[in-house]
Amino acid sequence: MAEFSIDRFVDRYAARAAGMTASEVRALFAVASRPEVVSLAGGMPFVQALPDDQVADVARAVLAEHGDVALQYGGGQGSVGLRERLVMLMAEEDIDADPDDVVVTTGAQQALDLLGKLFIDPGDVIAVEAPAYVGALTAFGAYQPRFLPIEIDEDGMLVEQLEQALVRGERPTFVYTVPNFGNPAGVTMSGQRRRQLVALCREASIPIVEDNPYGLLRFEGRAEACLRTLDPENVIYLGTVSKTFSPGVRVGWALGEQSVVQRLVLAKESADLCSSNLTMLMTEHWFSDDARWRGTLAGLVETYRSRRDVMLNALEEHLAGEATWTRPGGGFYVWVTVPDWLDTKALLAAAVERQVAYVPGTAFYPDGRGANQMRLAFCYPTEERIREGVARLGSLIHDETELYRSLGG
Ligand code: PMP
Repeated sequence: MAEFSIDRFVDRYAARAAGMTASEVRALFAVASRPEVVSLAGGMPFVQALPDDQVADVARAVLAEHGDVALQYGGGQGSVGLRERLVMLMAEEDIDADPDDVVVTTGAQQALDLLGKLFIDPGDVIAVEAPAYVGALTAFGAYQPRFLPIEIDEDGMLVEQLEQALVRGERPTFVYTVPNFGNPAGVTMSGQRRRQLVALCREASIPIVEDNPYGLLRFEGRAEACLRTLDPENVIYLGTVSKTFSPGVRVGWALGEQSVVQRLVLAKESADLCSSNLTMLMTEHWFSDDARWRGTLAGLVETYRSRRDVMLNALEEHLAGEATWTRPGGGFYVWVTVPDWLDTKALLAAAVERQVAYVPGTAFYPDGRGANQMRLAFCYPTEERIREGVARLGSLIHDETELYRSLGG
């Protein structure tokens, strides 16, 4: 491929494509994928923990017993058998659902895109946590909304800020939140904030989109009620098997009122006709054996918990006094705040040179905030690599601090 190429379609793209540019951070990630670099950047599930032989058995059984269906097109809503299994999975988190109210999507990511397509006109206001899941910002962003960032603390979204925005006259089309072990901050919304948010949105007739990929990856403590359980009529709930089983099967779903579900099915059909029957059947079979899926999930939770502990201990050892960070009770991520004068985006090249990578904080805000923050993921690297990576990060930040001080900062 030529090093420089002129885009001959540059005048032809729709206005919505203007924001679809690869960030400069991407180029660095290509370097960061070299084996000597400890990547604390990517949020990839640790699929090596899946029992290969059992997954192969499931694939074989699906093809042997349902080959003609598995290799054929399916319905836009997703198979009934899988939707029944997903309802069972949601019951694990005390969500009461009907398979008719579920639409299977190609990962939860597609559900975000379809919701954008259904709900967002250019200029509409979408309230998001600040920081927010970057994939939601890009999915919604394609429909040209104006984002209303609502800050978070260790108890999740500061619902009062949303309330103040409503008093100022803001009218969000919906509120998007990841209340359990959020991406990127790793924080969980408290019970009180959940009730506050649900009551406020109900009062103001603003739908809530609750995105819950990490709820079953709980390391300790008791779960707070899902927003969907607190107000089934006003909450559209998104789930995925990417973190409890495999992201490779691309099985996610949306749960909502019939009116929304029917529109989602139509939008889904125009996007990709249907999800893969093969992987839907595999997922249904995977979750039909209680001991198998629970055993695998328990193993994953165990692994992620000890990786979380290793990361928190390493942060304490190498960055105490120089940075602050969140203490996630589950999920994949720790959110680190460094001193104001440090710019994590500018620092990334030096970090990669020292063979450690993270995601700079600005990626997770729609408005350029987060320059002194970064997301670290503990899900994928081994404990040893996590220790090594955090130590490298610690020495880098330490050296930068020394330099800053020596210059009179
Ligand atoms: N929402 C959140 C908060 C996520 O972290 C992710 C995955 N990184 C997704 C949605 C999408 O997941 P998938 O499409 O694999 O279901």
